[in-house]
Amino acid sequence: MLKEILVSKAMTYEYPPDGGTVPIIDPYDGCTVGCPYCFQLEDEEWNIDLKVKLNIADILQDELMNWNKEDTVYLGSKCDPYMEIDRKYQLTRKCLIELSKLNMKCMVTTKAGSKLIYRDLDVIKAMGDKFTLLLGLSNLHQLKKIDDCALISNIQTANELHRMGVRVWAFITPILPGITNVELMMNALDKDIPVFLDRVRLKKDTKPAMTLESFIDKHHPELANQYQDIIYNDVDIYYDQVREKWSGDQRVRFVFE
Ligand code: SF4
Repeated sequence: MLKEILVSKAMTYEYPPDGGTVPIIDPYDGCTVGCPYCFQLEDEEWNIDLKVKLNIADILQDELMNWNKEDTVYLGSKCDPYMEIDRKYQLTRKCLIELSKLNMKCMVTTKAGSKLIYRDLDVIKAMGDKFTLLLGLSNLHQLKKIDDCALISNIQTANELHRMGVRVWAFITPILPGITNVELMMNALDKDIPVFLDRVRLKKDTKPAMTLESFIDKHHPELANQYQDIIYNDVDIYYDQVREKWSGDQRVRFVFE
């Protein structure tokens, strides 16, 4: 159910497996993109409601007054900031405007494929190198429809924005064996876009593990054994091959390694 709420804090914090503290702005709590591997599903309460934080930009404005300008903030963890609902509420745009007023460094993560980011190009371009788009390519809605990677909507967006001078980093995370063909995706991206890779990382017996297993059983039954190995035995032969092939490539980074 959609719930419009008021918040008293704009910034939350996450603590990734490789250490550190990551400040996050989530204009929404909940996500409509529906990735079956989404680690947020570990929280059984997440995404029961889609919460719209109506006042987040006003609260953010106050919080940023005391912010260290050298720190980078991230937009989007418990939501995709460019999912379709932002067409109506424009909270992502409002937060970006607050960040741009103070010349803050910001990274926006999205894989929704809504193209709404083009709406905000006026703000983003003014932010210059303070802005980075972390564009996820493991959007299963896009991948299931198309064989030619050059036609994948998020790859086209990555290339178009990159050519407009927006800093874009592409993420094939997770690499889904039999679904995300890393070589074809890399070849379809402009050659100077950095690409981040990571394997499927799921804890056994959690909701994301069960959701991905059900997704594979339903849509890719021929891959069921391979994914059971990944989920239950921590064996991912395709990822090992990808690492071997790309680890010396200057363009490629392996997340968490
Ligand atoms: S877009 Fe991100 S937050 Fe939304 S379901 Fe996919 S992984 Fe989860």
